[in-house]
Amino acid sequence: MRIVILGAGQAAASMAARLRTNGHDGPLTIIGAEPAAPYQRPPLSKAYLLGQMGLDRLVLRGEDWWQEQGIELRLSCTATAIDRSNRAVVTDAGPVPYDMLALTLGATPRRLPAKVGGDLPGVHVVRTLADVDAMAPAMQPGRRLIVIGGGYIGLEAAAVARKLGLEVTLIEAAPRILGRVAAAETAALIRNLHRAHGVTILEGTGIARITGDACADGVELADGRHLPADLIVTGIGIEPETALAQAAGLTIDNGIATDETGRTSDPAIWSAGDCASFPANGQRMRLESVGNAIDMAEAVADNMLGADRAYLPKPWFWSDQFDAKLQIAGLGTGHDRIVTRPGDGEHGGSVWYFRDGQLIAVDALNDARAYMIGKRLIEAGRSADPDLIPTIPDLKALMK
Ligand code: NAP
Repeated sequence: MRIVILGAGQAAASMAARLRTNGHDGPLTIIGAEPAAPYQRPPLSKAYLLGQMGLDRLVLRGEDWWQEQGIELRLSCTATAIDRSNRAVVTDAGPVPYDMLALTLGATPRRLPAKVGGDLPGVHVVRTLADVDAMAPAMQPGRRLIVIGGGYIGLEAAAVARKLGLEVTLIEAAPRILGRVAAAETAALIRNLHRAHGVTILEGTGIARITGDACADGVELADGRHLPADLIVTGIGIEPETALAQAAGLTIDNGIATDETGRTSDPAIWSAGDCASFPANGQRMRLESVGNAIDMAEAVADNMLGADRAYLPKPWFWSDQFDAKLQIAGLGTGHDRIVTRPGDGEHGGSVWYFRDGQLIAVDALNDARAYMIGKRLIEAGRSADPDLIPTIPDLKALMK
């Protein structure tokens, strides 16, 4: 059986490794548009941008490993169509036939439209190695960086730039940072952290356009003010990569729609990672995280070889900003109660999310204990008495 994995990111690497571990010894090919072998994306907006980690440590597997495993990497290879009737991926280097295909295509950063200057040189996004390599030389001490978007990308880029000695202003159009992914209490911890390190955060602030002729030189705000900048980073969210799947007639529903096993509307085609949406806990969801890319890819690999197991995500996330670590267990969506607990160190603390009395998520800043205990409770389907959390001397007692 010939298995082809289209998209060469984290999900592809995890899926390929699992297929070999599970005993698939037939042809296995990964097709990727980027020139690099599959690499980790999380460090791009952290250690790699800071210059503390090179490509050698970024790649998920060394060259030898791919050879030993007999996994063919077709890199710098762009797929232009999925020919379902002939079971082949059409690429700029010719057709690649498959018996089973997995789409691990990831996502594409949203960009501001060209009519508001989104395409000017000097406006950067953070998604690929090439994106970060393009912006790194401009990250010089004393330069002025404007970050547009207060999600994790924007906040991590702001923290790195500040560490490198740039003057940083972050602009968020919504009333507060982290509006999509975290409670106001977590946003407050992160806001305080950034302000303590000298980042200017403007929330509820729309932008009218990026200014500049040959190159971006600032941002005009919706209220008419002009902020000068030497470079601009946008972190305004991502769109799942669905174009090829849609053109091939696969069902799309907030991403490439799969069933609970990761199979798309074509029985020979599977999907996993940022691009895939799947049913779980009575709703269709799509998770943008490396944890999901790994776990779903492994479940899909098992299912391609006949396991028929439903994928049930155990969401977890982390973000490093300055010297602080934010760890998140569970999904806070739909919470109806928030309880906070102070942490030990500076800027520390945890935020506990409840829905109908059930613990559903914990955000912990510089508080590994709160994260571990929250994660264990959530994954075991257990809860905790919200009234005890703020003051209980030892959180471990919640496990009893
Ligand atoms: P994100 O989490 O969707 O955040 C984008 C932010 O930009 C949102 O707050 C959004 O506000 C705001 N925004 C949108 N349009 C804007 C505009 N025109 N002007 C100003 N603000 C605007 O996405 P992201 O930060 O770009 O990150 C991309 C993906 O990578 C996400 O899935 C993210 O979770 C993931 N990532 C994760 C980590 C981590 O876990 N440590 C690190 C980096 C990236 P609205 O919600 O109001 O649109």
